Amino acid sequence: METNVIEQVFGKDVFNDDVMQAKLPKDVYKSWKKTLESGADLDLDIANVVAHAMKEWALDHGATHYTHWFQPLTGVTAEKHDSFLSPASNSKPVLEFSGKELIKGEPDASSFPSGGLRATFEARGYTAWDCTSPAFLQEDAAGVTLCIPTAFCSYTGEALDKKTPLLRSMEAISKQAVRIMKLFGYDDVKKVSCSVGPEQEYFLVDRDKYLQRKDLIFSGRTLFGAPAPKGQELDDHYFGAIKERVASFMKDLNEELWKLGILSKTQHNEVAPAQHEMAPIFTTANISTDHNQLVMEIMKKVAKRHNLECLLHEKPFAGVNGSGKHNNWSIVTDTGINLLDPGKNPHTNTKFLLFLAAVIKAVDENAELLRLSASNPGNDHRLGANEAPPAIISIFLGEQLEDIIEQIVKGDVSSSIQGSKLDTGVHVLPVLKKDATDRNRTSPFAFTGNKFEFRMLGSSMSIAGANFTLNSIVADVLQDFADELEAADNFDTAVKELIKKTVTEHQKVIFNGDGYSDEWIAEAEKRGLPNVKSMVEAVPYLTTEKTVKLFERQNVLTKAELESRAEINYETYSKTINIEAKTMIDMAGKQYIPAVIEYVTSLADSINSVTAACAAADVSVQTELLTKCSSLLAAAQKALLHLEDVTEEAATKEEGQEQATFFKDVVFAAMNELRAPIDELEMIVDQDFWPVPTYDHIEFIKSCHQHCFPVLQD
Ligand code: ADP
Ligand code: MG
Repeated sequence: METNVIEQVFGKDVFNDDVMQAKLPKDVYKSWKKTLESGADLDLDIANVVAHAMKEWALDHGATHYTHWFQPLTGVTAEKHDSFLSPASNSKPVLEFSGKELIKGEPDASSFPSGGLRATFEARGYTAWDCTSPAFLQEDAAGVTLCIPTAFCSYTGEALDKKTPLLRSMEAISKQAVRIMKLFGYDDVKKVSCSVGPEQEYFLVDRDKYLQRKDLIFSGRTLFGAPAPKGQELDDHYFGAIKERVASFMKDLNEELWKLGILSKTQHNEVAPAQHEMAPIFTTANISTDHNQLVMEIMKKVAKRHNLECLLHEKPFAGVNGSGKHNNWSIVTDTGINLLDPGKNPHTNTKFLLFLAAVIKAVDENAELLRLSASNPGNDHRLGANEAPPAIISIFLGEQLEDIIEQIVKGDVSSSIQGSKLDTGVHVLPVLKKDATDRNRTSPFAFTGNKFEFRMLGSSMSIAGANFTLNSIVADVLQDFADELEAADNFDTAVKELIKKTVTEHQKVIFNGDGYSDEWIAEAEKRGLPNVKSMVEAVPYLTTEKTVKLFERQNVLTKAELESRAEINYETYSKTINIEAKTMIDMAGKQYIPAVIEYVTSLADSINSVTAACAAADVSVQTELLTKCSSLLAAAQKALLHLEDVTEEAATKEEGQEQATFFKDVVFAAMNELRAPIDELEMIVDQDFWPVPTYDHIEFIKSCHQHCFPVLQD
């Protein structure tokens, strides 16, 4: 019998637990497992044996090289390949890989963003093996490479990557949650981990068209472009039938992901034309973060095989939805209890209510930090810019839990609203059980059954930032809770009082209504909830005294590390807008303006030759177009010169907050001023004169012709 492709390929390229069990001597495997579970330091003897087994396995799979695979603060992954070749006395090659090479690497740290933590003259940096995330194989034109997930830090031990604080935060929340579990009598719980399932949105566009747009190539989004006659208003793309070309991409993508043990589960068309989504089954936060980085890389790689380009930018096209990433997050014990599972009768589930109260308090007290954790220059086009979700952090709990919270606040909790039967009115359809709670798509932080869904993340971001922030802020509240409850004379009364006090104080962050409405913005302001409108305005919250205290108390980030990250945020923002501005200057000056000049010249020629042939002929259409285009052309040229000026001026500003703010307030505004006349011209200029593929024809023309843009049908 033929086996299913999932069974054939799943985990094939991963040095996972099964492989280790098969390849390692029993005692080594056992002590390795123990190290992993206890989180104790790794013995070099064990590392040597693991390295040997890893090398043998990789060589069997055709690997020639290995690499320490890490996640510097650029947001993308980095790798430097070494072959297994080692010096040999005779002419035969010797292939080696030691425990030392497995656990430690020394890439030069000076060329990665460090926000002032590293100067170029003190370049040493280390990568350290993260044995909690399995090694895997990657195949490309260079051959097969063994990739070892690692953390990246400086010579002095400061974190220079996304993984280190995430791992630290996982330890922090585990430590505090275990204390709480002890108080509830769960002495067997030794470790608690966070589970994460990120839903990944993306666009697919035709690669030939993509290559004709410098804006897409350099900045990942269109910096010009008038809306197509049809956008997403008919809601006919969301969950629509998947086109052949896309389906074949998805098939390929799934196979590549499954090979790496990535639990690719759901796929569908998203709201905007050419937009899609993939969601994996959740796993622990660290592996999930590694996997999501791989998902993004593999999406890009596989797309090219189909002559498509995968756009992960948060806002590739104006006028239709951009892309985000929903970060589903929960806390689970090593004994298998999901601490955010309310059970049938949440009102009697004190343990759940306490953890719920901790999350509510953590989110309310640290809304700005969460906002920052979901910020990047691309996401500024979504958060707070009339697109999902709003920039104001609030929590959606749903009917059942909100009702319980209200009962608690009033002082007497006695019931849980139960889900009823769903009556479709059709007898042949099965009777379905309804959840006690409906969903809310507009909330940035929504309780969805047994987890929270943090919906603000941008599609291109690493999920590490959001998760180490969540873990740390919740750990910090749990620490206070544990301190208070451990000291209490009567645990039962103390815990009930603590829950009541907490939810009463933080009820203001709970909101079940429409998060997109103007009324909510006004209401949120009345409630005193922060509305941080942009990334640049969110960065200062990373270095406030309160933030530093919190992250230092949880041993997640030091003051110096936080300051360096704030610097990097400003730097990233400034550099991104600078690239966008320079791309616009290039396209406007070298492509759009010359094309429009050509077009107005053809209009002038037409007027001249028509009137020469017949003095009485009506050339009012040409004249009107000529006048209109010429005045828009003049406006475009003026805006272009202005953009050039302010971009130059930006370079003179002091790096950091001042420069980033100037880019946001002045350069970005000048970019919009240039875009407006060009987009208007695009609507009137003869399309044969237009120098780049346009938004129109998106998806609605079967065969690609020159001006169709992301055409996805064969
Ligand atoms: P929806 O679009 O309705 O939110 P999806 O199926 O697209 O649902 O995504 C739900 C995501 O939540 C999946 O990635 C899933 O694995 C994840 N998830 C489910 N349960 C948990 C949990 N306990 N902890 C973390 N993530 C979870
Ligand atoms: Mg979702």
